[in-house]
Amino acid sequence: MRKITVIGTGYVGLVSGTCFAEIGNHVTCCDIDQTKINKLKQGIIPIYEPGLEETVARNVAEERLYFTTDIPSAIREADIIYIAVGTPMSVTGAADLRYVTEVAKTIGENLNAYKVIVNKSTVPVGTGRLVQRVVQSYLSDTTQTFDVVSNPEFLREGSALRDCMNMERAVIGATSDKAAQWIADLHAPFQTDILITSLESAEMIKYASNTFLATKISFINAVANICERVGADVTEVAKGMGMDSRIGSRFLQAGIGYGGSCFPKDTHALVHIADSVGYDFHLMKSVIRTNDEQREVVVEKVRQVLGPLKGRQLSVLGLAFKPNTDDMRDAPSLQIIPALLRKGARVKAFDPIASKEAVVHFGDKIEYCTRLEETIQGAEAILILTEWDEIKQLDLDRVKELVQAPVIIDGRNCFSLEEARAHGFIYHSIGRPVVE
Ligand code: NAD
Repeated sequence: MRKITVIGTGYVGLVSGTCFAEIGNHVTCCDIDQTKINKLKQGIIPIYEPGLEETVARNVAEERLYFTTDIPSAIREADIIYIAVGTPMSVTGAADLRYVTEVAKTIGENLNAYKVIVNKSTVPVGTGRLVQRVVQSYLSDTTQTFDVVSNPEFLREGSALRDCMNMERAVIGATSDKAAQWIADLHAPFQTDILITSLESAEMIKYASNTFLATKISFINAVANICERVGADVTEVAKGMGMDSRIGSRFLQAGIGYGGSCFPKDTHALVHIADSVGYDFHLMKSVIRTNDEQREVVVEKVRQVLGPLKGRQLSVLGLAFKPNTDDMRDAPSLQIIPALLRKGARVKAFDPIASKEAVVHFGDKIEYCTRLEETIQGAEAILILTEWDEIKQLDLDRVKELVQAPVIIDGRNCFSLEEARAHGFIYHSIGRPVVE
């Protein structure tokens, strides 16, 4: 059995490392963040991801999963090295590759036998070749050989473990048959479809997939904005569209736009990649613009209903970019709440998991509540930004007793129009008729 080292123990590295251990491999997950590794060694999972804690604990107990900050040793011991560090957006919109190149340098310095180096981070086309050059240039033992593979990750935060264990496909971009075979063998227990491509195609598949999904979201949001003006209901429209198997029903939920650590940065990165090779990707530029504008749509709805917002008491329900995660990176709430504050509103906010993370962004500018009822108490309007189950299951009769005015601005279409009407709410949602 081949030994695996995963460098970068964030959402992707921790989940995929755990899954490789779960199917029987010996896996070492490393990170430069000592606090993170200390927590993991104590069985504390630094991120919120359903099912992860138990699975990590089981694999640690069964001596298949290890954590360390000693990256050089972990490299020397491994047959397969996964790079799963962050590739955040730089000021130009391009992916920042500094962490990937740092890791490549460390790998080069510690390469003591043939190894397959696999890029799992989302990286621009050409990065596999860049890693190859960096590793080569830092080889301490120049007789050593290695191969670089691209094996992009498609998991979704909030269902990452399930997605990884039941992956729909594994894309393996390789320059050598041997390396492709090693990574294909590693994926055999997942019983998934395997697509072997060139390095460049694999890198492009990841960007093309994410940006296509972002395009679907911006498309339906644009359709929602038209629906509001022509009296159609976007949920009916999306349902009708989704019944066509060529279109499919997923990623057609109108709302306040996509967020998170991937779609915003990947859409910008692909525009940047296109620019760098002389192609004006104006379609993607419109997708990004539509997404940015969608956040303003919801602020405008609040203003339309309440008039000037100075001194008005608002309850914001949901802060994370989507349910079942504590990830606040590029969450719509990061633009919407400051816009409300700038207009003078007072904000009380609730999120089942992400409040701790939100403090980093909003400090004491808003009031954080630990219970939904406390958040809603005295509200002049409720604003829904994340469709957590407990928000969708709110008892609207009880809500009405607690609020100052029965107004809901729903950025996630959590309630049916009939429900809102039956409970006597003024209800503004996305792409659907207003209930007054
Ligand atoms: P993350 O920020 O959660 O984790 C990255 C980790 O890498 C951090 O713990 C950081 O300390 C560590 N790190 C940075 N430099 C390091 C170094 N030199 N040595 C060792 N560790 C180092 O990031 P993430 O969300 O896991 O994303 C990782 C990559 O996977 C990104 O390219 C991202 O686009 C891609 N991706 C993310 C998701 C997702 O849902 N989060 C899904 C698919 C792909």
